Amino acid sequence: MPKEKYQQMIYTSINEKFQKWDELEFITERQIYFFLHSLKGTAGSIGLYELTTTASEKIEPLNENGERYWSKTEWKSYLAPIIEEISFYQTNFNGQQVENTQLISTNNRYDQEFILIIDDDIVFISYLKDILERMGHSVIVAYNGKRGLELIYELKPAIVFLDIMLPDTSGFSILNNIKKIKKDRMFVAVMSSNDCKENKIRAYDMGALDFISKPIEEDILISYVTNRLAYKKELDQSIITDELTQIFNRKFMNTQLDKLIQQYTRNNEPFALVIADLDYFKKVNDTYGHLVGDEVLKGFADLVMKSKREQDVFCRYGGEEFVMLMPQTTADQACMLLEQLRESMKQKYFTANEVRFQVTFSSGVVEASAANLHPKKLLEEADQALYNAKESGRNQTVIFNRLTAGVQKKVNVKIIVIDDVYLIRNLITTHFANWESSENFDIEVTPYSDGISFLNSNWYTPNYKYIILLDGMMPEMNGMDVLKKIREKHTSKDVIISMLTGLKDEKYVFEALEIGADDYIIKPFNITDVSTRILNLINRVFN
Ligand code: GH3
Ligand code: MG
Ligand code: MG
Repeated sequence: MPKEKYQQMIYTSINEKFQKWDELEFITERQIYFFLHSLKGTAGSIGLYELTTTASEKIEPLNENGERYWSKTEWKSYLAPIIEEISFYQTNFNGQQVENTQLISTNNRYDQEFILIIDDDIVFISYLKDILERMGHSVIVAYNGKRGLELIYELKPAIVFLDIMLPDTSGFSILNNIKKIKKDRMFVAVMSSNDCKENKIRAYDMGALDFISKPIEEDILISYVTNRLAYKKELDQSIITDELTQIFNRKFMNTQLDKLIQQYTRNNEPFALVIADLDYFKKVNDTYGHLVGDEVLKGFADLVMKSKREQDVFCRYGGEEFVMLMPQTTADQACMLLEQLRESMKQKYFTANEVRFQVTFSSGVVEASAANLHPKKLLEEADQALYNAKESGRNQTVIFNRLTAGVQKKVNVKIIVIDDVYLIRNLITTHFANWESSENFDIEVTPYSDGISFLNSNWYTPNYKYIILLDGMMPEMNGMDVLKKIREKHTSKDVIISMLTGLKDEKYVFEALEIGADDYIIKPFNITDVSTRILNLINRVFN
């Protein structure tokens, strides 16, 4: 978002504040202090330098805990320069409303490209992340190697920026790990200030695509990322098999599905679509490691390939989800084949360190009909049926049923904003108040002005998912302490925490990530970016 827009937002909010104060007989020195404090911090970063200077001058004689009452005439004359600037702005730009960008929920989490940064230098991370986000990319950060590997599996980033010196391991050992996994052409660029010949050779030998010396230059980086993503897109388009399992990929599935739909329209040829998803697969990874998880995926794919009929098209949809397209097949027939597959799975054992274990899967089946003849609709209905199969205890097959489809797979998400700055709370609350609930999510926002009132409230209800936007610096109780308190009871599985932090507080970011924050947002932010990011988080974690 251009700076002007943010400036406009700030002017509007200052104006609102003044209007509110105008209705009161007195305000306290503390109120003025906090107003100037936040103004000082925000204005400068969005190019309103004069306003920052004015705010700095005006805050100087004031006391943070000042109890003195200021009358209307007093504060108005004291803050006259700011008031003047506001009215200047109003006469010049009035009527230009800040547009409220509507959010589009990314229904398909596999459609999103991520860039992963694995690095422990928070200043560098912020710098890099900022550049990439300004380019419009979704960036995720891992501050150590373990988390990095986890994110590689969970999100399949398109590009990984990998630092060599990490707190828990070296970038080379990560490269080694990545080499063992066949990931969909993920581009790994090693970034290091230690750019000696040996490191470069080693990195290239171990499969890194690029070696970039730190410090990096912004314009070079921008061209680099654009180049690599374009290249990746080209590659992806020419490839129809999944690297790990060697079965068809999602791209191929999409083209085949289009064909089946055409055939249905032309010749009334029926077909069925199945989504199969391994049960508790995360546990397999957690217990035996990702490499064993990979073996399970391969094993499952092999088994299905052996048992399926010639004409069935079996594809890896993403992660541990698979799609089977079954021409000339009714839902009941599809179901029979799946039941046979489930029987075969019962005979199948996997091994890890001499431990034998078994895996089950659930599936959702849908039959093409005039009512659902669209790729998205068919996939949604199969997904709905799959959801019902999971809800009813997993390890089973469920056929989509229009009549019982009322039980929508909806995730109830509560967004909680904890920030002492009214502007921020208000910005986020109003933004989401206008946000239409999507088919997949119901979103509700609750603001809190400090951590204590939040912690003392009965904020947590099971069955809800939470996204907490937590200010790092608050007067009553520091954000870090609030974070610790939350993490004592709740994990990222249903409570995602993103820190809101000023640029100066970068050292806290690192600490926060270590304590258990999932993400961080640097102030000042623009609301569109933040809401996109919140939505990405929801899609990524709660879907
Ligand atoms: P449910 O029974 O509800 O399906 O639970 P689940 O644990 O199977 O499902 P969830 O979607 O929560 O977890 C899927 C996990 O699959 C998360 C991710 O780390 C892992 N995963 C995704 N792709 C790969 C992969 O290529 N290899 C490995 N080893 N793991 C993967
Ligand atoms: Mg699963
Ligand atoms: Mg899944």
